[in-house]
Amino acid sequence: MERRKFVSQLSLMGIGGMAFAGLSSIGGCGSPSNQQAEEHTDEQQAERKLGIALVGLGGYAGGQLAPALQETDHCYLAGIVTGTPSKIDKWRRDYDIPEGNVYNYENFDTIADNPDIDIVYVVLPNAMHTEYTIRALQAGKHVICEKPMAVTVEDCDRMIAAAKEAGKLLSIGYRLHFEPHNIEMMRFGQEKRMGAIKHIIADNGMGSTEGWRLDKALAGGGPLMDVGIYCVQAARYTLGTEPVAVTAKEGPKTDPEMFKEVEESLTWEMEFPDGVTAVCKSSYSENMNLLRAEAEHGWAKLEPAFPYSGIQGETSDGEMDCEGVNQQAIQMDDFAKAIKENRPTPVPGEMGRQDVKILQAIYQAMESGERVVV
Ligand code: NAD
Repeated sequence: MERRKFVSQLSLMGIGGMAFAGLSSIGGCGSPSNQQAEEHTDEQQAERKLGIALVGLGGYAGGQLAPALQETDHCYLAGIVTGTPSKIDKWRRDYDIPEGNVYNYENFDTIADNPDIDIVYVVLPNAMHTEYTIRALQAGKHVICEKPMAVTVEDCDRMIAAAKEAGKLLSIGYRLHFEPHNIEMMRFGQEKRMGAIKHIIADNGMGSTEGWRLDKALAGGGPLMDVGIYCVQAARYTLGTEPVAVTAKEGPKTDPEMFKEVEESLTWEMEFPDGVTAVCKSSYSENMNLLRAEAEHGWAKLEPAFPYSGIQGETSDGEMDCEGVNQQAIQMDDFAKAIKENRPTPVPGEMGRQDVKILQAIYQAMESGERVVV
C-alpha cells in the first residue's frame, strides 16, 4: 500500500520530467500480433501486468531486476534473452518462464511475434545498448535501457529516433529518481528549501572491478561511465539546471596493466548557471558514495547516496526521515504505468542522452586539459 501511494505521488509530481520526445502512438501492448491485449477493455488493460523480457542475464539482471519483478504490481518477468544456454533452465525454473519466451541474440527479433512481451529491458554491457534497444523498438516493444544509455551521443540519437519511429516509450534505468532520499535532494535544491544551492560535492567509486568494465570497446570508458554517471545525474537533479562547461583531471594509475584501456579514477568540476559548481570524483580503486549540497542557509547530504538500499540522509536541520524502498520495483512499475496511462516516463531517453553528452565533454576535458563547453 505504502509503495503504491508513493508511486502515485511520484507520478503526480512528474519527478525528473525533462522535455519529452513525443510519441505518435502508444498501444500499451504494442505488437500487431497482440490480439489478446487488443481484446481487453480499458479496465482490464489497466489491471493487466505488462510482460518484461530481460536482455542479458548478468549481475544486475539476476541480482536486482528479476527479484524486483517479484514485487511489481504493473509488470512481471515474462521472458529472457541470453547468449548462454546453460543459464536457461535455472531462470525458467526460478521464475516460471515458458519455453516460448526464451530467446537468444540471433532469434531475438522474432520477439515481435510474442504478445506476452510488452517491454524489453536491455541489461547488457554499455556498448551493446544501442543495437539491442533499436532491435527491440523495431520489434514493436517499449524499452528500458540501462545506464549509461550508450557510449556516444550519436548512438543515443539513433535510439531516440527509433523510439519515435516505432511510437514506443524509451526509458533509462535511472532507479534513483524513484528513491525517497534522492527525491528529497531534488526538492531541497529545486524548491530552494534553504536558499539557492551554491555548491555540490558528488563522489561515487568502487574498490575494484573486472571483466568488460575494463574493456574500452564494451564499456566506453572507466568508472566515469559506470558509476561517475550517478554524480552527473545527482548534480543535475539536485539543481534542476544543466552544466554549461566542465574541467577534468585523470588520477594516477596504481595498476597500469589493469587500467591500460580506461581511467582508474578521475576528478571533475561542472559549472552550472549563476556560478554554481559541482566537484565530483569517481574511481575503480576507492569506495566512495556521497552527495552533498551547500545552500545559502544550510546543507543537505546523502551518504551513502546511490546504493540499492541503506541510503542515509541528513540536512543542517537534522536527519532525513525517509523510508527505504525497492527502487527497481518502483522504477519498472512506473514505466509500465506510463505505458498504460499513455504518459511520458520521467526518465526518458533524452535524459540519458544529456548525461552521455556531459560524460563525453568530461573525457574531452580530461584528455585535453582544457575547459570544455557542454
Ligand atoms: P554483468 O557483466 O554482470 O552482465 C552482463 C551480461 O551481458 C552477462 O550476462 C553477459 O553474459 C552478457 N553479455 C553479452 N554479450 C557480452 C559481451 N560481449 N561481453 C560481456 N558480457 C556480455 O554486468 P551488469 O553489472 O549486469 O551490467 C549490465 C548493464 O547494467 C551495464 O550497462 C551497467 O551499467 C548496468 N547496471 C546498472 C545498474 C543500476 O543500478 N542501474 C547496476 C549495475 C549495472
